[in-house]
Amino acid sequence: MISRVDHINKMRGNLLSIVIPVFNEREVLPECLARLQQVIRQLGMAVEIVFVDDGSCDGTGEYLIDAASHHQPVRLVRLSRNFGKEAALSAGLSYARGDAVVVMDADLQDPPELIPDMVSKWQQGADVVLMQRRTRQGEGWLKRSTAYGFYWLLQKLSRSPIPVNTGDFRLMSRRVVDALMELPERNRFMKGLFAWVGMPSVVIEYDRPERAAGDTKWNYPGLVRLAWEGITSFSTAPLRLATIVGLAAATIGGAYGLWIVAKTLVLGTSTPGFPSLIAVVTFLGGCQLLGIGIVGEYVGKTYLESKQRPLYLVRDVIGDPGVAAGELVRAMPGGNARV
Ligand code: UDP
Ligand code: MG
Repeated sequence: MISRVDHINKMRGNLLSIVIPVFNEREVLPECLARLQQVIRQLGMAVEIVFVDDGSCDGTGEYLIDAASHHQPVRLVRLSRNFGKEAALSAGLSYARGDAVVVMDADLQDPPELIPDMVSKWQQGADVVLMQRRTRQGEGWLKRSTAYGFYWLLQKLSRSPIPVNTGDFRLMSRRVVDALMELPERNRFMKGLFAWVGMPSVVIEYDRPERAAGDTKWNYPGLVRLAWEGITSFSTAPLRLATIVGLAAATIGGAYGLWIVAKTLVLGTSTPGFPSLIAVVTFLGGCQLLGIGIVGEYVGKTYLESKQRPLYLVRDVIGDPGVAAGELVRAMPGGNARV
């Protein structure tokens, strides 16, 4: 008699893809590949590593081409320029052929040694294995507290809650990856999209180490942009906020106006009051601008979506017999068409 776990394994194939977006990570790659290889040896299943070179200019691409030509299970998707991590992740997912796909960073902040645990949870039936950070080493209190505040706010605003302290490090089954690829939007806030798909998930906690080598590619303006993207892509609450603030300001302004009229009728004209008038006008003007700004943010998003631009352009794919090097591939979620 076959057990439930064996049955699930029979239904699910046996290829694992590890998707790693890289942007100027030449320094950390040798250690990354060495540690991945050790893990792969323990795994006992077929593995492909899909690197997405997000327009690096420090020899990352050349190093990986070399690795692929030395019969390592490496495939390299090179994008035509730097498109950002979210787009690079989408590219990696659309090229991954595995029955399960692990997404991780190259800088070893997502320890590859945890992959066997993730795979075994998948083999026991989970569709998503989320890696939750117990601690974050090497990150200052400012980054930690802003990250906490952001996740808290997003939890409150969004209908598909995004688990606290989980990044992109996770394992997904084939059907989850296929579902993600079907989502057509171009504003890709991956953490939000991952949460939107849902499916049975398991959480594994881990201690997040410091970056093994090289520098972080994120800076505060970049993080604020990502956070704003996350909020406006996954919630229309800011629009409602504009309405509420506007309504409150208009009510207060109107009441104040009525009171002034009544006062003038009873006590006669009064010359003073000019400063308060200016105060009211500026306050209301500010509220209106706030409202318009927030609406504009969403209109802008709609505009970007309506252009239907591809998320990224692929320069070439190395280690894939189907695509010749140097060929430009126009890639979109859900399918790739050569240009
Ligand atoms: N990354 C990328 N494109 C970018 C920025 C970053 O592909 O434009 C990759 C980077 O190479 C790394 C991962 O995204 O593998 C996470 O970046 P990083 O470690 O710099 O971010 P942090 O861990 O500091 O949030
Ligand atoms: Mg990192």
